[in-house]
Amino acid sequence: MSDWESVIGLEVHCQLATRSKLFSGAATAFGAEPNTQACAVDLALPGVLPVVNREAVAMAIRFGLAIGAQIAPHSVFARKNYFYPDLPKGYQISQYELPIVAGGHLDITLEDGTHKRIGITRAHLEEDAGKSLHEDFHGHTGIDLNRAGTPLIEIVSEPELATATEAVAYLKKLHALVRYLEISDANMQEGSFRCDANVSVRRRGESRLGTRAELKNINSFRFVERAINVEIERQIDLLEGGGRVVQETRLYDAERNQTRAMRGKEEANDYRYFPDPDLLPLAVSEAWVEQLRAALPELPDAKRHRFAEAFGLSDYDAGLLTAEREVADYFEATLAAGADAKLAANWINGELTAALNRDDLPITAAPVGPSALAGLLTRISDATISGKIAKDVFAAMWLGEGTADAIIEARGLKQITDTGALEAAVDAVLAANPAQVEQLRGGKDKVLGFLVGQVMKSTQGKANPAQVNALIREKVGSGTA
Ligand code: ADP
Ligand code: MG
Repeated sequence: MSDWESVIGLEVHCQLATRSKLFSGAATAFGAEPNTQACAVDLALPGVLPVVNREAVAMAIRFGLAIGAQIAPHSVFARKNYFYPDLPKGYQISQYELPIVAGGHLDITLEDGTHKRIGITRAHLEEDAGKSLHEDFHGHTGIDLNRAGTPLIEIVSEPELATATEAVAYLKKLHALVRYLEISDANMQEGSFRCDANVSVRRRGESRLGTRAELKNINSFRFVERAINVEIERQIDLLEGGGRVVQETRLYDAERNQTRAMRGKEEANDYRYFPDPDLLPLAVSEAWVEQLRAALPELPDAKRHRFAEAFGLSDYDAGLLTAEREVADYFEATLAAGADAKLAANWINGELTAALNRDDLPITAAPVGPSALAGLLTRISDATISGKIAKDVFAAMWLGEGTADAIIEARGLKQITDTGALEAAVDAVLAANPAQVEQLRGGKDKVLGFLVGQVMKSTQGKANPAQVNALIREKVGSGTA
């Protein structure tokens, strides 16, 4: 075990899925022509005034309720001043001393199946900046202000994550939660869900936190994990070599798999925060909060518990099924179409997930939908086909060859239920393998598997293995072979 332990705190910027911006009526849709979705307010033309978007506030409150946080009845928008080419106002409207959401938590599942509660310090509303585009401009920088003013919540965790794996588990949980809540599409490629990771190390047992470095804007779960791990290694090497960690902002270079210094870490006072005089304090009534609470959907943890309880699934399987809302929806639709719950859980977490991963598809684009899958699973349940044959049928369904029933029919895959036919197949195998039959009769049970396998082979897998097993025992035992 290493002498060192790592400490990680995450800041996540999550774009809220409102149609218009946080303080203006301009559209937020992703992918528009540059600078076609920035109005006078976003451009900070003289005389404009911001007006807060009620829907964005509602989304922040929904988030706060989902993590068991306090919703501030009174919060304040502040100006965070800094100069950057994609920030026309010269400040970003954010929340500082009085954020709308404070003090919630998120429970993550660790690799050993236990759960750990991670504190969430705060979540505040703020506007996004524009984008500086460095590619395609031959030594110049293009400025696209479409993103300027897009609503974000910044979700700040306590420094309570111990490893990169825990950090990723936290991020995935958060990602799923905002999608369940339908407050963000959380598309990481499009930058709707971005993460800064604060990383420090300390000697095991030390109570004081070490000096942290902040890794900026990492845009995939895989890179978050790698970036944190190389940063931990860098800090340990540095400290063991007698050096010290400086508080700074670092960039992760995925190609080289290393982090490098970007700038010294700014302190809060560098930003000269002050309450925005153009905006009234944000007042949120209790009645509104209660109305939003009543309208919350079933959340991932509650769904996981319900699935485990109602269908007798393990916590692990229920966790897989609820890790993404679309998977949970798929599972429930499969049950609604008549499938057995345990069988459906096994198939969705097994065969279906493997096929989706292989073809790099989201579950919503699966070539085999919930009712088609239910059609297949029903044929396993009613013993028309074995689980093994079902895998072949599934593969054919995936390739668009038709429904389970059509494929079973066309390929003649029905299990042999006629006992006469089954007996004939068993007799033939026993007659062809007299040595093994003798061994079995002598008590060598291992050859039973071999003989069953031969029957399965001669019937192209269409026999019921349990039935074959029983038949062989009966015949060998009674000496009729
Ligand atoms: P800032 O906004 O300037 O980055 P904050 O105090 O808001 O600073 O902290 C940001 C994040 O850094 C939080 O998620 C917090 O948990 C984390 N953090 C603070 N100190 C440490 C530390 N020593 N090691 C790891 N993470 C830390
Ligand atoms: Mg920070």
